[in-house]
Formats: sequence, structure tokens, C-alpha cells
Amino acid sequence: MTQKAIEILSKDDDGFFLMVEGGRIDHACHIRCYENTTAETLAFDVAVKAALDYASLSNDTLVIVTADHEAGGLVLGAVDFYNYSAGDPVFASGLALSHGPGYNLTSTGMATHTAVDVPLMASGPGAEKFSRGRTDNTEIFYLMKEGMGL
Ligand SMILES: [Zn+2]
Repeated sequence: MTQKAIEILSKDDDGFFLMVEGGRIDHACHIRCYENTTAETLAFDVAVKAALDYASLSNDTLVIVTADHEAGGLVLGAVDFYNYSAGDPVFASGLALSHGPGYNLTSTGMATHTAVDVPLMASGPGAEKFSRGRTDNTEIFYLMKEGMGL
């Protein structure tokens, strides 16, 4: 879908803005499903690659990757909570822990959004403005606006 969107939008001589969301990652995190979280994250990775591949063809495309929030508190390599082997993924949100064997994590209820910092990565012209340590999420709008010359 990302490749097709780029193919269509890139025909505009004025340039384009495209937002691609891996929204199902959030849904999988809400139900604490490690398998779907992984699959949706890998699908999002393919979308990011399509954008980066297009950007590599010229020097005028800024690609930004971030998240609007974290959900569920997926922890990799967590300490053994309930007879877990070290390294098993565990969803942990506050005091509510989800546990079960291997990939088939058993939900103990819907996970919530957390206040955990999320990555902000950029590639292309102006990308250096996105890597200043911590950035307030509202600042991203202004950086994108500046990047588009608006
Ligand atoms: Zn959500």
C-alpha cells in the first residue's frame, strides 16, 4: 500500500505528504498479543522500507518514523514473573501482568496506553532536527511544516 501510494503521489510536481500508520500494532498491544504485535511491527517495517527506498532515489525526501504512544508495556528479556524463562516476552502494565506459555499470552484484560517515551527517527533533508535527545510530540508538527517549506 505504501509503494502504491508513493507511486501515485510522486506524480505531483509540487511534492507530496504521506502518512502511513501501523495502527494495528496498537490494537495487538491492547489485547496483549505478542504474536500479532510482532507481525504488525514487521508489516510496518516493510512500509518504512518502501518509503526509505523511494527516498534513496533523490535527496529531497524526508522520512519520519515515530509513534503517538506506547501501549501495553511489552518487555523483552523480562525477569521471570510467573515461571517464565528469562528472555520470554511479557506484557506488563502497572500492576497488571499478562502471562501464559510462549507466544500464546493469556490476556488479563485490555492493556492501556502508557507514558513511555517512543522513538523519533528521521532520514533525509532536515533529519538532524529530529535527533535532539527528547522532543515534545507537538514539536514534530512544526518540524514537518518547516521541512515542507510552509
Ligand atoms: Zn491504543
